[in-house]
Amino acid sequence: MVDFHTSQGHTVGIDSQRLEALRAGLRGSLLLSGDAGYDVSRALWNAMIDRRPAAIVRAVGAADVMQAVNFARENKLLLAVRGGGHNIAGKAVCDGGLVIDLSAMKSLHVDPAAKLARVEPGALLSDFDRETQAHGLSTPTGINSTTGMAGLTLGGGFGWQSRKRGLTIDNLVAVDVVLASGEFVQASATQNADLFWALRGGGGNFGIVTSFEYRLHALGPEVHAGLIVYPLAHARQVFDGYRKFTAAASDEMTAWLVMRKAPPLPFLPEKVHGTEVIVVAFCWVGDPARGEEMAQPLHAFGTPAGAHAGAMPFAAWQAAFDPLLTPGARNYWKSHDFKALNADVERILCDAVARLPSDECEAFIAQMGGQTNRVGAADTAYPHRDVEFIVNLHTRWRDAADDRKCIDWARGLFDALAPHATGGVYVNFMPEDEMQRVAAGAYGANHARLAALKAKYDPANLFSQNQNIRPQG
Ligand SMILES: Cc1cc2nc3c(=O)[nH]c(=O)nc-3n(C[C@H](O)[C@H](O)[C@H](O)COP(=O)(O)OP(=O)(O)OC[C@H]3O[C@@H](n4cnc5c(N)ncnc54)[C@H](O)[C@@H]3O)c2cc1C
Repeated sequence: MVDFHTSQGHTVGIDSQRLEALRAGLRGSLLLSGDAGYDVSRALWNAMIDRRPAAIVRAVGAADVMQAVNFARENKLLLAVRGGGHNIAGKAVCDGGLVIDLSAMKSLHVDPAAKLARVEPGALLSDFDRETQAHGLSTPTGINSTTGMAGLTLGGGFGWQSRKRGLTIDNLVAVDVVLASGEFVQASATQNADLFWALRGGGGNFGIVTSFEYRLHALGPEVHAGLIVYPLAHARQVFDGYRKFTAAASDEMTAWLVMRKAPPLPFLPEKVHGTEVIVVAFCWVGDPARGEEMAQPLHAFGTPAGAHAGAMPFAAWQAAFDPLLTPGARNYWKSHDFKALNADVERILCDAVARLPSDECEAFIAQMGGQTNRVGAADTAYPHRDVEFIVNLHTRWRDAADDRKCIDWARGLFDALAPHATGGVYVNFMPEDEMQRVAAGAYGANHARLAALKAKYDPANLFSQNQNIRPQG
């Protein structure tokens, strides 16, 4: 007998016969506490989250997912769904419930002639880059190659190509989905179009996606990209230059700012290591011959402390930030959307970065705009189609004794920035304690339609372990 938590917060005992029947029906495996692989499956990128599910189904195909969903629904179990395990809120694993772990489902099929990729939900960005870049193809995803394609896509998805090609969801063509009923359906612009609308930004609320089909575009395999590091003391000049540069930038150029302590990068003089810096990270996805010329102004915001920029494989650039974002650290994020930066925002950020609570904390400014804003706010569930910048506060540390000071730093900075922000937030950047922000902040005017679709597709809220949209209507 194994005790499970139900979705209503009770405990239910499931006897070994029923568990064996579940196990026997799977192509994948059923893991209980103590089984080999159980701890790997429950470990998430954010080490703040340490949850022990009663059981984990390690699915290897849609049939496993259907069976596990039916088992959870019939037994009214608390259910969580794990893709790449990167979400900051850590909802991919639950205490005492059933987890459907999709991370073994990594197959990727590229059709170079049709420029389409079929991707299973356990694939990481690195898997996607490897298979698509073999054909000189890609689609917009994120900037850290160990992130899961599934969670990133379902929340929206943006990165170096988004100003040119839109969000990841703007390049999503079709999905296979297992609904809360256990039924397998397909969704696209022409099939179950309402479900397809909801899945493009609505996160894991509407079903479990077992296959994503993306439209691909020619890219690389080399792009012109890099890092230009300025001392934080030059921040005013850098911000001035950055504001002018981004206002005039073409869709092929994306430039982000990262404010943090300089890591010991080999291209930086040793005396810069550990000092506060403001880093321009950029990627040009247009004609490679024009990359150097287009990036030149970024080197002239002041006197850089060091730079590493030039032609490089896109897949390598996608992994450039991985060493700073390894799994296993404690992390807490706060995030705001902005239509414009201003002198107050810049001053607030500089003041906060001058008193970072740990050496690994950073504030970054992601440049949005371009094609991400040429889709209507109601055309997909992701509503933030007027945002030019996303500011994300990445608080990151190792020792639990530092939890309070690190979290307080992020919250204080978040509050100080709030009067200048839109009030909106990218759903994939929301920590666990922000569920009250889901309706107005993450979904705004799209929330009512999402809540009605939740009532249609998941009336009992089986998929509750996410940035939850409650069924209404
Ligand atoms: C270091 C780092 C860098 C990041 N950079 C970017 C970036 O550049 N751009 C960007 O857009 N985002 C970025 N993100 C945010 C990222 O998009 C989210 O964390 C996303 O949720 C990760 O997806 P995952 O599959 O790895 O996560 P998981 O934690 O496994 O899943 C997140 C949630 O998605 C749902 N889910 C997962 N798989 C499925 C499925 N197949 N069907 C239904 N529901 C599912 C579940 O509710 C789950 O709780 C970054 C995150 C990190 C930690």
